[in-house]
Amino acid sequence: LVRARGVHKAFGPLEVLKGIDLDVAAGEVVVILGPSGSGKSTFLRCINHLETIDQGFVEVDGEQIGFRLKNGRLNKLTNREIAAQRSRIGMVFQQFNLYPHMTALENVIEAPIGVHKQSRDEATRYARELLTRVGLSEKFDAYPRQLSGGQQQRVAIARALAIRPRLMLFDEPTSALDPELVGEVLATMRDLAKEGLTMIVVTHEIGFAKEAADRVVFMDGGVVVEQGPPGEVLANPKHARTRSFLSRFI
Ligand code: ATP
Ligand code: MG
Repeated sequence: LVRARGVHKAFGPLEVLKGIDLDVAAGEVVVILGPSGSGKSTFLRCINHLETIDQGFVEVDGEQIGFRLKNGRLNKLTNREIAAQRSRIGMVFQQFNLYPHMTALENVIEAPIGVHKQSRDEATRYARELLTRVGLSEKFDAYPRQLSGGQQQRVAIARALAIRPRLMLFDEPTSALDPELVGEVLATMRDLAKEGLTMIVVTHEIGFAKEAADRVVFMDGGVVVEQGPPGEVLANPKHARTRSFLSRFI
């Protein structure tokens, strides 16, 4: 479903991504680990058009992100085409970014109605289903300030799912939460993983990686240092850099 090749990205003189290659199959759950500043967020942002890449390419579902091959030349997509590509990718951030003046339900139906032109009835029906799925059937009409951090993040997950994405990107979705609220969000994500959703998750939650990931990718210094099944990468890392990173969690 996702194919990234030689992805480079620099901010001025700072080279953040130095040739990322990554494949993610449909239904696969990939957890990206790596030290702060290694380029994890930047890479996710490149997949979702929040950054443009300098070299290489990212394909999602066979379509190159941001460009189209036409008469042997790569043309930049129009804003409308970019919006169409983005509308198939859901993203959940560390900060929940909910609209504070909208209820949980209103937050979830906003994109389906605004971007996807669904009817209010259809969007509302599906939003109720999603909020129920993330354990918030009692909170349809609550405003973000009336919800705990973990509940807000679960609304954010429901909102990302509302566009029926083919791919979900999570960037440290539990890092801003109080420790006692982390579990409920990870449990929601584990359910989604079991349902076969394709997910790329940047997290420091090694336990989640162990249980839910099909593959763990360790990034450092803008490259993929090593990847493999969690049992291998976490229990028996091959590279010294992976070992030293993981030793912090034990
Ligand atoms: P963390 O674990 O702390 O979230 P990360 O692996 O997600 O780290 P990135 O956020 O991708 O790292 O950042 C990689 C590097 O790129 C950092 O040095 C950061 O300061 C730099 N960087 C990121 N975004 C920008 C930007 N818009 N302009 C300039 N530098 C940036
Ligand atoms: Mg980050």
